[in-house]
Amino acid sequence: MPLLPRRFERLKAVLDRRMGDLTVLLEHVEKPHNLSAILRSCDAVGVIEAHAVSLAERLPTFNTTAQGSQKWVALQRHADSTAMIRQLQQRGFRVYGTHLAVEAVDYRRCDYTGPTAFLLGAEKWGLSEAASAAVDQAIFIPMRGMVQSLNVSVAAATLLFEALRQRQTAGLVPERGEGLAPEQYQRLLFEWAYPQVADWCRREGRPYPALGEEGEILEELPRTVKLRC
Ligand code: SAM
Repeated sequence: MPLLPRRFERLKAVLDRRMGDLTVLLEHVEKPHNLSAILRSCDAVGVIEAHAVSLAERLPTFNTTAQGSQKWVALQRHADSTAMIRQLQQRGFRVYGTHLAVEAVDYRRCDYTGPTAFLLGAEKWGLSEAASAAVDQAIFIPMRGMVQSLNVSVAAATLLFEALRQRQTAGLVPERGEGLAPEQYQRLLFEWAYPQVADWCRREGRPYPALGEEGEILEELPRTVKLRC
């Protein structure tokens, strides 16, 4: 089915509000319903990519809780937690580790208007010692009940929406694509609009074709590829 102009406008409207400087790092969060719920919250807030360290032999899997959000929020996989944290720090992110350390502060006391990554831990064990030691700041969400911790996806949503709230208050939420580098925006727009053609281009080592005003591909493609549009 051809890409409808209305669908193209919707894709652009969502990309216009995506934030490249807000993300989550997941350390051994393995349950499909948790991963799915976290990616769904990422999509809702405007996160463009999330990061995960998972057991070597296990591919992250999602269930219906995701509602397809794994298509709109890329999950980058890493082999090692400390390397993942360092990589984000080198890119200018401040990494907030979620655990109840003595030095942890109430999450509402931190400023998330700059590049921010929330590190969340495994369902059963929480964060590893190595990961906790590598973060810039430990934070916690105060609890008032009998149970000591929140479900990890609830913690992720609470933190992400606090970051969004702070950015909205500061007038720092992108509305016209300024949250992404222009080349990243164009690449994602093509991949979202034409995922199968994008796959083909990557396999062939070709750049993505340019798109017209209404999302039409401005290049003659082989017939078999055209059928996938
Ligand atoms: N027994 C584990 C522990 O001591 O960390 C509980 C893990 S908890 C179910 C899973 C993850 O959810 C945690 O590693 C953390 O990332 C997040 N989390 C849960 N409750 C939290 C809270 N009150 N504040 C911040 N993060 C929380």
